[in-house]
Amino acid sequence: MGLHDPAGGPAVSLARPQVPGFHPILVGDTLVTCISDGSLPAGIAALNNIGQEEARHLLDAAFAPPVPRTQVSTYLIQAGGRFALVDTGGGRQHMAPSVGFLADNLARAGVEPGQIDTVLLTHSHPDHSYGLVTSSGEALFPNAEVLLHAEEACFWLSPGAETRLPPQAQRYLVPTLASFAPYQGRIRTFTGGEVFPTVTAVPLPGHTPGHSGYRIASGADSLLIWGDVAHVPDIQLLRPEVGIAFDIDTAQAAETRRRVLEEVAVERQHIAGMHLHFPGFGHVERRGGGYGFVPSPWSDLPG
Ligand SMILES: [Zn+2]
Repeated sequence: MGLHDPAGGPAVSLARPQVPGFHPILVGDTLVTCISDGSLPAGIAALNNIGQEEARHLLDAAFAPPVPRTQVSTYLIQAGGRFALVDTGGGRQHMAPSVGFLADNLARAGVEPGQIDTVLLTHSHPDHSYGLVTSSGEALFPNAEVLLHAEEACFWLSPGAETRLPPQAQRYLVPTLASFAPYQGRIRTFTGGEVFPTVTAVPLPGHTPGHSGYRIASGADSLLIWGDVAHVPDIQLLRPEVGIAFDIDTAQAAETRRRVLEEVAVERQHIAGMHLHFPGFGHVERRGGGYGFVPSPWSDLPG
């Protein structure tokens, strides 16, 4: 797609760069900025508990292309003069050329990696943890402590991980260990509770054993960053039983998804998610026997 310069100059490509990939909102006094890392193709072949034809029909009904893009987002939290980053995207080394734009978009938001003092991981999958390191394998966040759920650290980082990982996840292990390696001595685990000013960890097991969301509460306002509760939101909100091949425990992941969707719909909880359409802020409503996502409107004021 291109635009012609009205003065008759060359066509301007809109393929890249898109507008800067960050979007801030205020949650009480806490500034939360969605920082895009890029996107990945979301082939419906990876979905389970749904026929291919029905999946195609649901995508078509949502005006999505047959092979939709899955957004890969991270969220920057600024509270009490400190900076936390929830997840780190897919990095530049091992995933795909369409991800790894976290550092670029952080810079566009006016933040240097050295300012981040805490990295909060929702889980250790490649599109969330490979971005811990630069293209040369060094720590991207030289001053950060890395926090993750104790079950997640045990599953991926303790000896014998190759015996616990399902066959389709074996190839992630070596790059995952390499991504955590530069942070030796500054990796901390939790099982719940407050992990950063205004931020509480919310265990959401199933997708991975220690998969966690983060609830930000400031004043009367709150936001739940739900991690990977949904990967293809146009299908999985309407049909919460639909899982993805990367779920370590498909049944538990579906149970967690259904429970969280019901809770946030009933409580009218403001939510955010790594694979919701950018910038991934909105609400969930009950819709057609399942649920639907209602994106928050863009605003020129963060809160
Ligand atoms: Zn993911």
